Amino acid sequence: MSERCVVAVDGVVQGVGFRPYVHQLATSLNLRGLVRNDSDGVLVELEGERAAIGRFLQELRVAPPPLAAIDTISVLPGRPGSYSGFTIAASDLRHTPTALISPDMATCAACRAELFDPANRRFRYPFINCTNCGPRFTIVHAAPYDRARTSMAHFVMCAACRREYEDPRDRRFHAQPIACAECGPALGYRPARGPGEDQSGDRALLAATAALLAGLVVAIKGLGGYHLACDALNQQAVERLRARKHREAKPFAVMVEDLSAAQCLAQVGNAEAALLQSPAQPIVLLRKPATPSLAEAVAPGSDTIGVMLAYTPLHHLLLAEVARPLVMTSGNRSDEPIAFEDAEALSRLEGIADGFLFHDRPITTRCDDSVARVMSGAPALIRRSRGYAPRPIRLRDPFPVPVLALGGHLKNTFCLGRGHHAFLSHHVGDLDHPSAQLALRCGVEHYQRLFDTAPAVVAHDLHPDYHSTRLAARLGLPTIAVQHHHAHVAACLAEHDITGPVLGVVFDGSGYGTDGAVWGGEFLLVDGPRFDRLAHLDYVGLPGGDAAAREPWRMAASHLWSAFGDGCEGSPILARRKRDWAVLRRMLERGFHSPPTSSVGRLFDAVASLVGIADRVAFEAQAAIQLEAVADRGTTRSYPVDLRQDRDVLLLEARPLIRGVVDDISRGLPMAEIAGAFHNAVRDLVVAAVGRLAERTGVRRVALTGGVFQNALLLERTAAMLTEHGYDVLVHRRVPCNDGGLALGQAVVASAIHDSQGG
Ligand code: ZN
Ligand code: ZN
Ligand code: FE
Repeated sequence: MSERCVVAVDGVVQGVGFRPYVHQLATSLNLRGLVRNDSDGVLVELEGERAAIGRFLQELRVAPPPLAAIDTISVLPGRPGSYSGFTIAASDLRHTPTALISPDMATCAACRAELFDPANRRFRYPFINCTNCGPRFTIVHAAPYDRARTSMAHFVMCAACRREYEDPRDRRFHAQPIACAECGPALGYRPARGPGEDQSGDRALLAATAALLAGLVVAIKGLGGYHLACDALNQQAVERLRARKHREAKPFAVMVEDLSAAQCLAQVGNAEAALLQSPAQPIVLLRKPATPSLAEAVAPGSDTIGVMLAYTPLHHLLLAEVARPLVMTSGNRSDEPIAFEDAEALSRLEGIADGFLFHDRPITTRCDDSVARVMSGAPALIRRSRGYAPRPIRLRDPFPVPVLALGGHLKNTFCLGRGHHAFLSHHVGDLDHPSAQLALRCGVEHYQRLFDTAPAVVAHDLHPDYHSTRLAARLGLPTIAVQHHHAHVAACLAEHDITGPVLGVVFDGSGYGTDGAVWGGEFLLVDGPRFDRLAHLDYVGLPGGDAAAREPWRMAASHLWSAFGDGCEGSPILARRKRDWAVLRRMLERGFHSPPTSSVGRLFDAVASLVGIADRVAFEAQAAIQLEAVADRGTTRSYPVDLRQDRDVLLLEARPLIRGVVDDISRGLPMAEIAGAFHNAVRDLVVAAVGRLAERTGVRRVALTGGVFQNALLLERTAAMLTEHGYDVLVHRRVPCNDGGLALGQAVVASAIHDSQGG
């Protein structure tokens, strides 16, 4: 008895080898019918044995193609038809496209094997790819994803490539970036200065190799932009790169050929190994071994290094030639966005790079490497970009109207919400620089085109002076301001597809509060459009405002002043800076240029400075990262914190903690022990405050969010103890806990506010 049905599959199902997969599966089960792309995803019409159709659906659910991300599978009764076999039909694009664009994916094992197979026609071809791997998001101009709408459009396929492209049984069936040496993109190398001449093809690769082995800096065009590369074993080369890039201390990422090479550089657990080899291949933060083999200048003062595996064929060829780890850092000057256009790269990286390894496949969107870390045994994204964007976060409750959220100021990303999807963007970066501001505007326009969405509402941070806030006001649409920490909590809820109520514990550097103070140690009861600030770290002065984030000693002074008043005068850290302290003290006394702050990020800075880690830092959170790095994980010591109810608000006073730290320093306790005890104290403070608030509100679900929770030691200990106490603990996994996730929360809160106001 023959049955018929229609199967509609939504999600990331185009450009990921879905139709050949369906063709193969249906044929193997003796099913007749057809498969085609439509504007929402993939549509399959099936005819055959009932049991075979059941098997088909079962297979589709449990073992879809590796790069597919299925949102929904709906099965409808079949239309009458008579099929003689199973075919792949032409796309149906009568409606506006809403099908999803796949992120870029690392070279698959099959392509890599062909790359190094002298008998293969793509032997050593740096742009080999297939339906399971290769560029996607960074080559697309518009939807739907077809070759004509990618930057591969101007390469005319040769006969051999076309045969593969049109053969449903081929791994390259409708692989839009399909190419070979005959018809596709080609490499070039240009020395920046001195002797040498332009090279192309394999010669270009060898010239770049020679330069790297000679200790030079080479700019290399990748998937989403240019990297700056140098020999990671050569201290001088790494120092030269640091000096030219004006990047004193921030760790560089390193690229290696494969997992075993990564294991030579760092400690790689099972979860880390899986993450390194996942199709997105992010940079993974790994613990340094006892005797590091990399040049010290790669990640000075850090106990971790960021490692990624080669993810394009060009990387594989290059690493096979140099046979050593390479520093691979964003091709930019200090904090500008990554360079991705060839002419732009040549001019912007002049004076940094000694040579350029480039190619003629244009990049349509800049996309930095993603960064992830294993925390509490599972991966957590710290920067969500290449390999993840523009894959949406799917929400059970749809956005009532399309929303654009412009994110925060640092680590900016934006988010376009439409239907059940929140398209959280690739990393845009810090918006201080005009070129980053331009990148934000271009990115927003690109996403609106790509996902055919015109926002009805624009969400932005409450901070009046953020560039993103000013941009929101210029877009000519209704705007909704969302408080920074409210957005952090909402982002955490959204990634777990949960709506409130929840107790949000938000620890971060800074965010504009509803009272104009600099918040960052908040306990918020969040429920949809509303939040209540139930508790926070008691205010201290933030002397010099933003300058305090670069000079942790200022925060040490402020906390000492708060804890001891006049009694802080004898402190060695202040005695060292008599004149600076005299000025700072006057500022604190008068509240001049010293806004009140509840920032836990700044509390970490203060303690790091007190124990002697750093008085000044080159980037935000550097001192806090080093405090985590030195912490003795074995210590069970802790410091007390006072909880004081002040009308409706519970205040957490850090004074006893600071006194405890100062006491331990004067008794000569090792820095490692004090740092460990401090982490325990912050954990204890969370557990104590949450206990009080849960009792008061009856809410036992807790979300840990904000950039401070990138600290694995703090996150793991706090989450574990809260879980032990019976709370339902939510932590970030797919979306960064730092400001890189902010836009998602803004989008969700703004649409809840919009909804509550009656649309
Ligand atoms: Zn492949
Ligand atoms: Zn070809
Ligand atoms: Fe934040």
